[in-house]
Amino acid sequence: MAVLIEFGLPNLRLLHQELAISYAHRLVNQPDGHLARELFLEQYARPILTSFNHLTSFGSYLKQAEARFNFDHSTQTPAFKRSLRSRSLSMQIDQLRNCEYSRILRNMSIQPSPCSYIKLDQRPIAILRARLRLNRNHLNYTKFRCKMSLSPLCPSCPHSAETVRHVLFHCPTFAAVRHICFNTLAAFECPISFEVLTGDVSSIPPRLRCLALAASAKLLLAINLHRPI
Ligand SMILES: [Zn+2]
Repeated sequence: MAVLIEFGLPNLRLLHQELAISYAHRLVNQPDGHLARELFLEQYARPILTSFNHLTSFGSYLKQAEARFNFDHSTQTPAFKRSLRSRSLSMQIDQLRNCEYSRILRNMSIQPSPCSYIKLDQRPIAILRARLRLNRNHLNYTKFRCKMSLSPLCPSCPHSAETVRHVLFHCPTFAAVRHICFNTLAAFECPISFEVLTGDVSSIPPRLRCLALAASAKLLLAINLHRPI
């Protein structure tokens, strides 16, 4: 689910419900007297019924999907599909916040769209960002939790766990390159946050996003060179 959220894609269940609502929207916008439109309206008017063999009519399925989405197929908006996709992605983000997995990502502010680094970064740096955001990195704290390391501590700091935040914000090993990165971000009045450093620059004006990504990419590449992420 976390990977889908990073790419701005709904899961299969949400996608199916989204397509049902979108299809119904197309049907009701057909001209009066159109056979498919009339059939749909006739079926939609029936009460929700589920037969004994668990087969649900399209009308019943649609009503349940609309209740879940809180979004009606008859909504007349110029960007119907985009609004629907945004709604399903928001629902997916809510699901992530209420689950016990993806500890790092669910505590970040996430937008219902593909994350900035997915759209703007080159693949090698996007991989590093994804490893940090999705907690699939090779830092000692993460490996220790997976029983792949004997110690969670940073190799350079005997009293600090080697967490993502430690490496990005505190570890003295990367002080010089971090100083350059933070100064660059500050010069463009970009927030120096976990989100920005890991590739979500949606809070920054569009003209500065590539600059912010380039600044944080240098920090991540320097860390990766010394301590593979
Ligand atoms: Zn350290």
